[in-house]
Amino acid sequence: MIQPHGGKLVERALSGKKKDEALAGAAKAPRLTIDAELISDVENIGSGVYSPLEGFLGEKDFKSVLAARRLASDVAWTVPIVLDADPETADGLKIGQDVVLAAEDGRPVAILHLLEKYGYDKGETAQKVFGTRDPAHPGVAKVLGQKDVLLGGPIDLLEMTPTPFDRWKLSPKETRVLFESKGWKTIAAFQTRNTPHLGHEYVQKAAATFTDGLFINPVIGRKKKGDFKDEVILASYEEAIRRYYVRERTVLAILQMEMRYAGPREAIHHAILRKNFGCTHIIIGRDHAGVGSYYPPFAAQDIFEDFPDLGIQPMFFRSFSYCRTCGSVVNDKICPHPAEEHIQFSGTKIRDLLVRGECPPRELMRPEVAEVIMRFKDPFNE
Ligand SMILES: [Zn+2]
Repeated sequence: MIQPHGGKLVERALSGKKKDEALAGAAKAPRLTIDAELISDVENIGSGVYSPLEGFLGEKDFKSVLAARRLASDVAWTVPIVLDADPETADGLKIGQDVVLAAEDGRPVAILHLLEKYGYDKGETAQKVFGTRDPAHPGVAKVLGQKDVLLGGPIDLLEMTPTPFDRWKLSPKETRVLFESKGWKTIAAFQTRNTPHLGHEYVQKAAATFTDGLFINPVIGRKKKGDFKDEVILASYEEAIRRYYVRERTVLAILQMEMRYAGPREAIHHAILRKNFGCTHIIIGRDHAGVGSYYPPFAAQDIFEDFPDLGIQPMFFRSFSYCRTCGSVVNDKICPHPAEEHIQFSGTKIRDLLVRGECPPRELMRPEVAEVIMRFKDPFNE
């Protein structure tokens, strides 16, 4: 089994006596309310998805991630995982103190062992992570809207927050046991925030031809307007897998995390998390984790050259389309036919058809999958 990133799978979820003690202590501790996205981050730290992170980044790691795309320990890490607070709240917290991180309903989610409070330049952070300061970029907008102080320190997770998608939730510890029990040595991960069309199916099956297993891992959580809703993504994948995939070789599980749309940096981030789940390979397509036209189409592939020590193998797909002459989904390396023979998998085109209640052509989407999507009254995020 592939080693977790940084060599050790982090487990910072408390249980039993330790959890009871922490909850008792929490009654007197200062509290900080965190939103759903931060709860996902806390859970991902606690369950080892973000290994080797044991908490929210301190200043040295934060600066190192921005400048060098690595933690201060030199382990690759490209997207800063931070906890923001307004200055008044931060002033009220003492270094060395335990702080309860609570959900909006008041439920304690985790304990932060506060080690650092520090300021940061939001514009510079956006520039480094997203390559732009344009507030029209959803990731940039998020950073610019963050509070002014960052709190660093390890966390202990008290409770996972229930979601409607829990039956698809697996921790890295669980996926590792599952992959092991299936006897899989090589596993290709597929990151998605989309319902499956035949182009996706093609790259997944092309990759899975050479691995023991396929790990389809949709990102569940805050996304931009117009993206498919989480329940639509999961229902459509279940249908696709049921009808068109080898079940014994396919695992569908969610990754609860907001999309940051950081393009190349997020591609590396996505690879690291799938390595922690036990995957040996990750499929990286055109404009992975991109948005608008902020990133050159293959920047998210080229960036892997800078990380020879990543430990998980990327599988690059430059393009895929349906070729009428070949009569199948193809890519530019295997099909010699001219552009006019090709039907592109345009997300916008498929979306427009679905909105009108029309089934996309069979060459682009499985009719059963289209039917599942069209059963939802409004399949897209508002
Ligand atoms: Zn062709």
